[in-house]
This record gives sequence, structure tokens and C-alpha cells, in this order.
Amino acid sequence: MNYEVIIVGAGSMGMAAGYYLAKQGKRVLLIDSHNPPHAEGSHHGETRIIRHAYGEGESYVKMALRAQELWNELEEQSEEKIFLPTGVINIGQPDSTFIQNVISSAKNYSLNVEQLTADEIKKRWTGFHVPEGYIGCYEVDSGVLMSENCIRAFRNQAKAHGAVLKVNAPVTSITIFEDSVQVDTADESFTAASLIMTPGAGTRKLLPLVDLELPLQEERNTFSWFETDESLYRSSDFPAFSFELPTETYYGFPSIDQAGVKIGRHDGGIPRDMKQPLAEFGTYEQDQQDVSSYAEQFMPRLGSHKMGKACTYTMTPDEDFIIDKHPGHDHVVIACGFSGHGFKFSSVIGEILSQLVIGNRESTLDIRPFSMKRFSK
Ligand SMILES: Cc1cc2nc3c(=O)[nH]c(=O)nc-3n(C[C@H](O)[C@H](O)[C@H](O)COP(=O)(O)OP(=O)(O)OC[C@H]3O[C@@H](n4cnc5c(N)ncnc54)[C@H](O)[C@@H]3O)c2cc1C
Repeated sequence: MNYEVIIVGAGSMGMAAGYYLAKQGKRVLLIDSHNPPHAEGSHHGETRIIRHAYGEGESYVKMALRAQELWNELEEQSEEKIFLPTGVINIGQPDSTFIQNVISSAKNYSLNVEQLTADEIKKRWTGFHVPEGYIGCYEVDSGVLMSENCIRAFRNQAKAHGAVLKVNAPVTSITIFEDSVQVDTADESFTAASLIMTPGAGTRKLLPLVDLELPLQEERNTFSWFETDESLYRSSDFPAFSFELPTETYYGFPSIDQAGVKIGRHDGGIPRDMKQPLAEFGTYEQDQQDVSSYAEQFMPRLGSHKMGKACTYTMTPDEDFIIDKHPGHDHVVIACGFSGHGFKFSSVIGEILSQLVIGNRESTLDIRPFSMKRFSK
């Protein structure tokens, strides 16, 4: 047996898992079809928001808080900038489920969240225009993760602890034996006691190799940078944000290192045919139109649209994650379907995945909400 654990897909989740295993002295092999961090998966575009008072549901809060601890640890250990404490404001109508979840998460977990009226938001950050009747929940301790730096830091640390990384090596075949696995690429074949599958948008293609079917749908989403008046929008003064409208949801980042404000639309992604390459930004009219019309109405002091990029979400039907053991094989673990909100958790999910393949193979945090059984008929 060559390795104790093989990780297929060394992106956001896989690279973190590789680090936590290698740190514990495990012989771990990470295999990726590209050279992470890269622009062919779901983690590029430099930044991701981390929120703690979780609008998508309170079952995520403990994971978000543990994730933050682990990001802070990574920041201490690495040379890279990992986390920017910009604060995050969640703006929406007071009766929206998302806003209600933020308020109840903040209350039940004693999080530092300030509730602000539309006028109070406009007064504090003159770069926003907020409609009457909307409110904002300002998470003081949340902020921005430098996503590509995070993956680079996990990669460097994993390798420093002895992990082996094969890049530009798409996995072509997986064979599961009773107490081991064999993973093949075009040129090589590897065996290990356990397998972690974290291939992101490549998951659906690999599922038949391990005899699994999951209701995943890849979606193309885009994001854009705008010309920015630094005195209004720089990251020392302006927060990251989510902005929920009745039928659309946007998110964005302050200007970091003078890059300009970055804005994306969270919903409204276009289903992808994974046999075709990702259509570049600008292929569809809505790529620029949606964010520009949002900016005109709600951040009217921004300048013109500078540039945009396309990226992929892997959606589950309920937009909750899948983190589970293979139903027929205890030594095979899969984490996928991060539905456009997974990055902030990648540190803690790496830790959870490492726990699921070693020792008593149990996660210290409750992952029952992420079971794949919820989709079985
Ligand atoms: C535009 C955009 C904005 C987002 N904003 C946020 C945000 O603000 N906050 C947040 O928390 N989350 C956000 N997300 C979501 C988050 O980035 C993803 O949920 C997360 O990156 C998914 O991680 P992953 O490990 O599943 O995928 P990835 O990081 O893409 O990793 C998967 C890896 O598997 C590899 N792979 C695929 N197939 C194979 C194969 N056959 N063999 C070997 N390797 C393979 C790929 O090359 C890749 O490196 C956003 C996503 C996008 C696209």
C-alpha cells in the first residue's frame, strides 16, 4: 500500500484535507486535474466572503466559527494574507428568511452583529443606497478570505508536512476494494487505505466510477470589478456585503489593494454542460447587465464596469452541502455540492474530512444535515 489516504481533487476542500492529514503524519497523496489554485474550478477571483451569523441556516454557525479559528491559525503559520477583517453587512427586507436566520444565529450564538436601518447604513457607508424599509445586519467580526492565497498556503503547508501532490493529472478510474482503493490517472496508478473525493465541479463525472448517483447541477456564475472611488470603498472603511432583493441576490467586496469593488449575482446561474468549456465572461448579455443595474440602483457612486470573470457553482437541490461516507464503503468519503457558498468552510471541512478517514472515523462537528441519504427516495 503506497498511501494511507488519496484525495481526488486538491482545490478548496481537498487541499485543506491534505494539510490536516499531513500535519498528523499521515501518508497522503493529493491528485488534481489542474495546478491549484487555478481558474478552472470554483475558487478563483481572489476573494470569498466569510460570514458567521449564517443566513442559509443555523446548522452552519458552529462550522463557520471553527472555520474562522482555523483560518486565523493558517494566517499565523503562513506567509500569505489569508483573512481581511472588513466586517460583512447583510442587507435585505426584515421578513426575509435569510435576514431572519442571520438575526437568530446572532442571538443564539452571541455573535457581534449590529442591526441598522436603511438610513443608518447610508450614513455610515455613503457608498450604499438602501431602499426605505430594508435593514442591515452588520457582522463586525466577519470579512474576506483571499481564496487563492488560502489554497496556496494549504498547499505549501501540506507539502512541508510530507504530502505528495500530483498536478495536471485528471483521475480516470477508481476501484474500491474491501479495505483499500486504487486510483488511476492516464500515466500512473496508486493505492491507499482510504479515499477522499473532493473534485468540485468534476464530481458528477466521477460518481459512476464509485457507483453513486447524486442530484448535482453545475451552474455558470459571473462576477465583475468596477471603477472605484477609493475614499468611499476601500477595504479599510467599507465592508463586504450581501444584498437581497425580492427576486435577486447580490454580494460584493470592498476595493482591496485598489482592485476596485467586486460584485456578483448569487442566484440566476446558467446550468452548464460540463462537456463544453466554461463560456467566458460577456458571452451572455446578463453577465454585465445584472451587476451594472444593481450597482446603478444600490451603489450609484461606483464608476464604470471594468472587467468580469466566469466561475462554476455545483448546486444541490436544497443548496445544502453533501459531506458523507460512501453508503457502501466506510473508507470512502465524499464532499461536494457546495452550492456557491462553500469556500468559507473549506478549512473546517478539510478538518472534518481528515477526521472521517482516520481514528474512529467520526467528525467532532455535527454533519448529519449534510448526509447524502436526504436525497434517497
Ligand atoms: C463566483 C463565485 C463566488 C463565490 N463566492 C463565495 C463566497 O463569497 N463565500 C463562500 O464561502 N463561497 C463562495 N463561493 C463558493 C466556493 O468558492 C465553492 O463552494 C468552493 O470553492 C468549492 O470548493 P471545491 O473544493 O468543491 O471545488 P474546487 O475548489 O473547484 O476544487 C475542486 C478540484 O477538483 C479538481 N478536479 C476536478 N475533477 C477532477 C478529476 N477528474 N481528477 C482530479 N482532480 C479533479 C479541480 O481541478 C479542482 O482543483 C463562490 C463560488 C463562485 C464560483
